Amino acid sequence: MLPVIALVGRPNVGKSTLFNRLTRTRDALVADFPGLTRDRKYGQANYDGYEFIVVDTGGIDGSEEGIEIEMADQSLLAIEEADIVLFLVDARVGMTVADQAIANHLRKQEKKSFVVANKTDGIDADSNCAEFYQLSLGEVHHIAAAHGRGITLLLEHTLQPLLAELSAQNDDGKGDDDELIDLYSEDDEDSTAHEAFADKPVKLAIIGRPNVGKSTLTNRILGEERVIVYDMPGTTRDSIYIPMTRNEKEYVLIDTAGVRKRKKVSDVVEKFSVIKTLQAIEDCNVVLLVVDARDGISDQDLSLLGFALNSGRSLVIAVNKWDGLDDYVKDRIKSELDRRLGFIDFARLHFISALHGTGVGHLFESIDEAYESATKRISTAMLRRIMDMAQADHQPPLVRGRRVKLKYAHAGGYNPPRIVIHGNQVHDLPDSYKRYLMNYYRKALKIMGTPIKIEFREGD
Ligand code: GDP
Ligand code: GDP
Repeated sequence: MLPVIALVGRPNVGKSTLFNRLTRTRDALVADFPGLTRDRKYGQANYDGYEFIVVDTGGIDGSEEGIEIEMADQSLLAIEEADIVLFLVDARVGMTVADQAIANHLRKQEKKSFVVANKTDGIDADSNCAEFYQLSLGEVHHIAAAHGRGITLLLEHTLQPLLAELSAQNDDGKGDDDELIDLYSEDDEDSTAHEAFADKPVKLAIIGRPNVGKSTLTNRILGEERVIVYDMPGTTRDSIYIPMTRNEKEYVLIDTAGVRKRKKVSDVVEKFSVIKTLQAIEDCNVVLLVVDARDGISDQDLSLLGFALNSGRSLVIAVNKWDGLDDYVKDRIKSELDRRLGFIDFARLHFISALHGTGVGHLFESIDEAYESATKRISTAMLRRIMDMAQADHQPPLVRGRRVKLKYAHAGGYNPPRIVIHGNQVHDLPDSYKRYLMNYYRKALKIMGTPIKIEFREGD
């Protein structure tokens, strides 16, 4: 589980500015969830090797009305789900009643909370920030988010130790990766090895925006099969893990919809948690993204898809509610899906009805295939043979009068499968040829449901 840092505070104190600073540190993927709240953003960030999720909570000031109440609820949920809260205040405006209301809330929360006074540029920070000590949340950290000042200090002194501690706690139970990685054997000449690691349960995360039918699908899967369901404890942001057996194979469903609800969870707001979804993606082997045929692909769907792609996880897409539609509508939906999802060439698309159970069984064929593809053991000899074949069928182009030459290939990891290719001028290979190679490998190795990463290295 990645640590979660939530940014809270009144509107306009500089939360989005700080969010951008924190997430810009790497090729962060930032998703907006327009339907849920205004301005609510999630991003992945990295400091000193520690990855974490940053949530920009929009804004709360205690005087919300109408739609803002829902926003405030979402902010409160984000606080609850976070490991660390950065409470931003405006050093120029000074302390407000709303700041005090937020502080009161945070003090009741037994959460690691830090007061961060922003906009300290061009003012006497010490005298302007002194009053924030009355918030009784300990030290007041000075930053100027717009200028990037004070942020490194905050990360280094305050956040880094906590991130290190949280990551150490969360690392228990990891290590699957290390175990499997040496299975890429260098000298396994004849192996066409299509072995999957069937002794481990496949962790399947069922994700999707609210109302697409995740709960219905989960219940359908659990109800149709003879499954053994255990009740798992968890907190609001944790998904529920449901071990199940199907055709003698073991799976763990990561239920982000909260079908097996714990007692108190009843809010509508609680039902869809982006953090929960992100954590589920992080922790699974295969993502099952559920979309609603009747709504088409929304921006929220694309955001979730973006997170799944970014994680490099295997992916199967279920287009749900495929019942009761006439052929004309079905055709229209299919071409719309083609248009919007055409860029993902590796994921299988299934048209299902969770309500009636149509197509649900077939989903597992693709789930198994995706998992097997992602964890497949591929020998160096095989990778090299395929590279040679691809090159013979269609030679790489000339660049500046010299032909690009691929010399050697070996495996660089799995989950997703990574192939390292060495050669001359490989950095000049046009994207079209890279795509050709990728597709060649995909076909030759029968890899479906998972992305393939090819890395090019200059020289032998
Ligand atoms: P949010 O509503 O809390 O997300 O606040 P924003 O990040 O949108 O910032 C609100 C305004 O404050 C914007 O006009 C920012 O340019 C400005 N701002 C943010 N950080 C700083 C800062 O460090 N110094 C100054 N002077 N202005 C800032
Ligand atoms: P979740 O929020 O993603 O867990 O969605 P739910 O499983 O609660 O479903 C939302 C609504 O869609 C409910 O009213 C379901 O009965 C309905 N629904 C779910 N699956 C299907 C389906 O395959 N066909 C139709 N027609 N309705 C469905």
